[in-house]
Amino acid sequence: MWGFEAEPEFQRELDWIDQFVRTEIEPLDLLIENPFDLNDPLRRRLIPPLQQEVRERKLWACHLGSHLGGPGFGQLKLALMNEIIGRTHCGPTVFGSQAPDSGNAEILAHYGTADLKDRYLGPLIENEIVSCFSMTEPQGGSDPTTFTTSAELDGDSWVINGEKWFSSHASFASFLIVMAVTDADAPPHGRLSAFVVPADTPGIEIVRDIDLYGHSPGQGTQSYVRYTNARIPLDHLLGERGGGFAVAQTRLGGGRIHHAMRTAGLAGRALEMMCERAASRSIQGEPLARKQLVQEMIADSWIELEQFKLLVLRTAWRIDQYNDYRRVRHDIAAVKAATPGVLNRIASRALQVHGSLGVTSEMPFGRWVMESFHMAIADGATEVHKLNLAKGLLRDVPVHDALFPSQHIPTQLQAARERFELDKASGDS
Ligand SMILES: Cc1cc2nc3c(=O)[nH]c(=O)nc-3n(C[C@H](O)[C@H](O)[C@H](O)COP(=O)(O)OP(=O)(O)OC[C@H]3O[C@@H](n4cnc5c(N)ncnc54)[C@H](O)[C@@H]3O)c2cc1C
Repeated sequence: MWGFEAEPEFQRELDWIDQFVRTEIEPLDLLIENPFDLNDPLRRRLIPPLQQEVRERKLWACHLGSHLGGPGFGQLKLALMNEIIGRTHCGPTVFGSQAPDSGNAEILAHYGTADLKDRYLGPLIENEIVSCFSMTEPQGGSDPTTFTTSAELDGDSWVINGEKWFSSHASFASFLIVMAVTDADAPPHGRLSAFVVPADTPGIEIVRDIDLYGHSPGQGTQSYVRYTNARIPLDHLLGERGGGFAVAQTRLGGGRIHHAMRTAGLAGRALEMMCERAASRSIQGEPLARKQLVQEMIADSWIELEQFKLLVLRTAWRIDQYNDYRRVRHDIAAVKAATPGVLNRIASRALQVHGSLGVTSEMPFGRWVMESFHMAIADGATEVHKLNLAKGLLRDVPVHDALFPSQHIPTQLQAARERFELDKASGDS
């Protein structure tokens, strides 16, 4: 029942993935900055052959359940795979599991009409097209009650008006899943509905593509999008009117686990690099690896990484056991909240151990530290996940209605003496 080893057949697959990622995808990362740009000629030349190898190995889009032609691996196996794939930027695309397409495919499969599935689902799973999830607005992402982008019924159409911020990859997407207010006066969780908006719908304007700090200028993929009277058919509503949050949740649970393990993979790569440098660089006649303060950085990094992986794997195991995300949502919140810090601390230490070289763009540490901030913000800020976790932990805590806490030692001692009748027995006190 309990075990910390993969079964031998799956371990063979993990070993193959490890080799493939190190020899094929790590070099690819240096050549392809944006795997979502399907029209980039170099990307068209280099990525599809690797995707084909993954397909032949039957490891393509493994996050998909058997109902969508996937292997139905379960979250624990997916977590182990993602740890290896996450060493690289292009890895998820080569394995057909890149966000947000993976989550958007699950949404389409669950809520899309037969026509929408025919048009988009197969091509999305095959990475012949890419997609976008368009929810955050410029005036505030953490508080959806401030969202104003609206969808109004007009005859046989929904008409969308408003602005969205950080709609990743919108410029490359064939369709966008847009969250829009349909019921402004409803309670906070019933105001928004989710829609499929084809990218060629008149009225969609990319105001600009924003660069992330540390990426090449002009290569931005975080789109600021304006919708002006964008008109879509009625059946492009996903799920129920006002049920946008339920639709959005479909993409988050498993995705957060995959993301966390990919981050563990990246942090593990930073730790490997830190160890190599410590072993190889001599200062005052001895390798850095002999300096106790450097040893502490390495030991702390290993401990934090292994603790984090155990939390993620336990959460993945619980998802597989219960098959009920509601029951595991606090575990998932804890994983999401812990993820950025692990990468931030380990990549920062690796940077420090590399000295001046560490702060340059000749090493990837600065970019990874910045990526830890992306993780602390995208898909909900860390603070929001911590609040949700704490609320869950506090929900069923009973109030102890007495002057001193229930574990107050003198009060407990008195109760213990009474329990064992010590005050009655002579000579026991
Ligand atoms: C790399 C990246 C990719 C993204 N991709 C997408 C995408 O594809 N689609 C999409 O719709 N959005 C996307 N986002 C947007 C993301 O979801 C929002 O940035 C996020 O929800 C936070 O919203 P905000 O940026 O407006 O920050 P704000 O809501 O203004 O929050 C700012 C800060 O306030 C603090 N804070 C917020 N709430 C609380 C609280 N309750 N208690 C204490 N402190 C709090 C946090 O420190 C937070 O970082 C992406 C973001 C990043 C960084």
